[in-house]
Amino acid sequence: MAGPCLWPDLTTKESLLPPESRMHPEMSEEGGTDLEKHRDLLAAENERLRQEMKAREGELRELRRQQGQCRGCTHLQENAVLQERLSQLQREAEEARAKLAELDVEVQQKTNRLAEVELRLKDSLAERAEEEERLSRRLRDSQETIASLKSQPQQIKYIIKTVEVESTKAKQALSESQSRNQYLQEQVGMQRQVLKEMEQQLQSSQKTAAQLRAQIAMYESELERAHGQMLEEMQAMEDEKNRAIEEAFSRAQVEMKAVHENLAGVRTNLLTLQPALRTLTHDYNSLKRQVRDFPLLLQETLRSARAEIGQAIEEVNNTNRELLRKYRRELQLRKKCHNELVRLKGNIRVFGRVRPITKEDGEGPEAANAVTFDANDDAVLHLLHKGKQVSFELDKVFPPQASQEEVFQEVQALVTSCIDGYNVCIFAYGQTGAGKTYTMEGTSANPGINQRALQLLFSEVRSKASDWDYAITVSVAEIYNEALRDLLGKEPQEKLEIKLCPDGSGQLYVPGLTEFRVQSVEDINKVFEFGHVKRVTECTNLNEHSSRSHALLIVTVHGLDRSTGLRTTGKLNLVDLAGSERVGRSGAEGSRLREAQYINKSLSALGDVIYALRSRQGHVPFRNSKLTYLLQDSLSGDSKTLMMVQVSPAEKNTSETLCSLKFAERVRSVELGPISRKAELASWPSQEQLEVTKGDVPGTAVSSSRGHASPSPGPPSGRATSIRRKLQTSGKLRPVPV
Ligand code: ADP
Ligand code: MG
Repeated sequence: MAGPCLWPDLTTKESLLPPESRMHPEMSEEGGTDLEKHRDLLAAENERLRQEMKAREGELRELRRQQGQCRGCTHLQENAVLQERLSQLQREAEEARAKLAELDVEVQQKTNRLAEVELRLKDSLAERAEEEERLSRRLRDSQETIASLKSQPQQIKYIIKTVEVESTKAKQALSESQSRNQYLQEQVGMQRQVLKEMEQQLQSSQKTAAQLRAQIAMYESELERAHGQMLEEMQAMEDEKNRAIEEAFSRAQVEMKAVHENLAGVRTNLLTLQPALRTLTHDYNSLKRQVRDFPLLLQETLRSARAEIGQAIEEVNNTNRELLRKYRRELQLRKKCHNELVRLKGNIRVFGRVRPITKEDGEGPEAANAVTFDANDDAVLHLLHKGKQVSFELDKVFPPQASQEEVFQEVQALVTSCIDGYNVCIFAYGQTGAGKTYTMEGTSANPGINQRALQLLFSEVRSKASDWDYAITVSVAEIYNEALRDLLGKEPQEKLEIKLCPDGSGQLYVPGLTEFRVQSVEDINKVFEFGHVKRVTECTNLNEHSSRSHALLIVTVHGLDRSTGLRTTGKLNLVDLAGSERVGRSGAEGSRLREAQYINKSLSALGDVIYALRSRQGHVPFRNSKLTYLLQDSLSGDSKTLMMVQVSPAEKNTSETLCSLKFAERVRSVELGPISRKAELASWPSQEQLEVTKGDVPGTAVSSSRGHASPSPGPPSGRATSIRRKLQTSGKLRPVPV
């Protein structure tokens, strides 16, 4: 780094140096020589230091290399510290060197300037000397001239004068020169001062150089010490390395020994393993062979497995077929057993249902309850009539609290048998207001047998859908004053006729009776609604009208067993009968009387028919009323009939209740003869027999109809019906449309 310039600019003033400065040329020369010498010395010293530094660096490199060889030694840390120190020293030495170089440069500059100044001073002094010489010469000349002139008075006076004048001028010039000389001497003094300062600076530089040298020496000693330390460390490391090598060697020898021993063990093992290896190789080869043969083996096994599976499937199929056959046989057997059970219980059953006391019954003694039940027998009912208790026994009695659900549970077996191909009739009998319509139709919130029966049919049909195809059709009709009307037809007023099938099968059918195919409960509801609307539009007072007519819901179920081709047809007739009250007694006249007579006649005819059927009479007076004639094939044979006798428990209705219950009991009390196949076959009239009874007079009283009950000699009608049903199911005969 260059120091501040301490040298004044002498270029302009060099000619003004005083002559006195020439007095000390040797000093300047000496100074310059000293400086140069000193510089040379410094340069030499510098060079030496550089060499030494190089040598140290070489040593350092060597040390580093050795250290590199001794990686992982415990002295690495100390070594690192030493190296750090060394690098610190090197840095300091470097700095000192830089400073020295700066000083060198400075000294060089100063020496150069000094030489220049000396040179200029010399020149200037020479010039001054010359000038002084010239001036003193002129002065001398002038004084000589003045003296010579003084000796030549007149002429010379003038000259003197001139000379005096000139001398004055010379004096002036002299004084100017002297003043200038004075100034130059001052300048020289200043230069000397500057020189002195420079010398002082030089001395301080020398002092600094000496200090630096001392520092360098210190660093060198430090370096030496570090070097020594490093050498010691290296020696220690070397020792340690040797020790480690020895240890490793001895360890390696021990390990080698162990390895040798192991090797010996392995050799012996190898010897023993050889036979095992041979066995393994053998095994491997045989496995390889097996793997090669495996696909073939697999194919073979697969073939045999397939054959076995096929055989097993065949066996399972056979078993399945056998099971199916057995199942069907069992099913038939079950059906037969069920049928037999129902037959044993009686194909005709009579239930009683007592409705609760309602607001319509009014209040007071008239609305008092006259009906009680037997806690231990659900088939017995007691009626308090005119102070006397009359008891009745039916097949089942439903008390007022019996729900629609409970009632339906008792009749659902009948409904499902319709799917199996049986004909079923369910009648609701009783005086108006006793609950017939409630039991059959119910309310929308609490439906009666009609809707529940159809729902059950749909669910049964669905559950059998995997094997059977079913078609359910419904017809809604009414019989009013012995006229049959189609409530789903376009002309509800039109009277329909019941006719014999022209195919000679003896089946009855109603030409023109509308049948709707239904597939869901929604369809059924639509049909009911449709029929209801027709009925409402056709009569002025529906309540009155409905109580004086028989309402019929006829459901026909056609079934086809897809696997066997077996066909079945079952018919479910749900009949809400006209009110059984005895109108005639109250002195009704005209059309009301006529209605009452028709109702009475048809209900009596129904009673007669059921009675005749239940007592297995040979002749059953089906033709005594439109109702029984229409339901002939659903009442005869192995058809099933349920009479639900509805009664009001109110005191005011006891005489009608008594009549209804007597009717129920009369129908039911018929002794069933011993059930035998023969008796069964003999008890049902054939269609031919039915035709023979054509001449029966309509309106025959119950008692008179009983008179007709004589066994007919013809072919066994039950058997005939059974055969007919079977033929019908196999599709050989056309099913009855009603
Ligand atoms: P019917 O058809 O015999 O003339 P209804 O079925 O119209 O008689 O019944 C007459 C009244 O008695 C109706 O209001 C009906 O709701 C009610 N009723 C009938 N039976 C029951 C019963 N078991 N539970 C509740 N109410 C009934
Ligand atoms: Mg009714």
